[in-house]
Amino acid sequence: MNNWPFIILDWLYPPTCLLCGDPGSDGLDLCKPCADSLPYLEVTCPRCALPLASSGPSLCGACQKKPPAFDAAFALFHYQEPIRHLIHALKFTARYAGARLLGALLAERLAGRNDLPEAIIPVPLHAGRYRERGFNQAIEIARTAARRLEIPLDLRACRRIRATAAQAQLPAKERRKNLRRAFAARPDLSHRHVAILDDVVTTGTTVNELAKVLRQAGAERIEIWACARAGR
Ligand SMILES: [Zn+2]
Ligand SMILES: [Zn+2]
Repeated sequence: MNNWPFIILDWLYPPTCLLCGDPGSDGLDLCKPCADSLPYLEVTCPRCALPLASSGPSLCGACQKKPPAFDAAFALFHYQEPIRHLIHALKFTARYAGARLLGALLAERLAGRNDLPEAIIPVPLHAGRYRERGFNQAIEIARTAARRLEIPLDLRACRRIRATAAQAQLPAKERRKNLRRAFAARPDLSHRHVAILDDVVTTGTTVNELAKVLRQAGAERIEIWACARAGR
């Protein structure tokens, strides 16, 4: 692997904790005390990564009632401070360092698995929104995760064909309506096992819609990877 650009970057900009400004540790932009205080998720629904109160083999109530279009989900953190701040800063000020850090932490947790997917598919932004923002946080996080896990990043697997209203302002039912036919997958998708990557999963509506079109395009096993998962 070609590492020299990163070696030069490290020399020019030594790792600095994005949360407190102290020197980073393990080559990450995160210091040890801040790393130890992050809100890692422990017990979650294996299907949708919803934080659960106690350990057990059962799915969350929503997945028992109506399972989502994807097979499994993994989320690294609770969607709370300081992760919320880090992710918010990514979206609005294009912080590449923040995206690299989240991608590295995600990869660190997933690295030991022996059933890794064949490709990582970041949730796409609509072309218009991408031009306006110049940055898709899911792609930037996925770049680092893909490189560290040595899995291909697939940026052509799907597109967002409809610009949709911002999800956050909408109630659940409207969210589903808002996202209907928002995505299109390449019909000749060659991967059977994929991971859809997003920065935050809140209700799961976005990743569920994307999973449906990837399923139609031929994906057999679809998982969701997220940096953070909101509770209900
Ligand atoms: Zn720190
Ligand atoms: Zn669930």
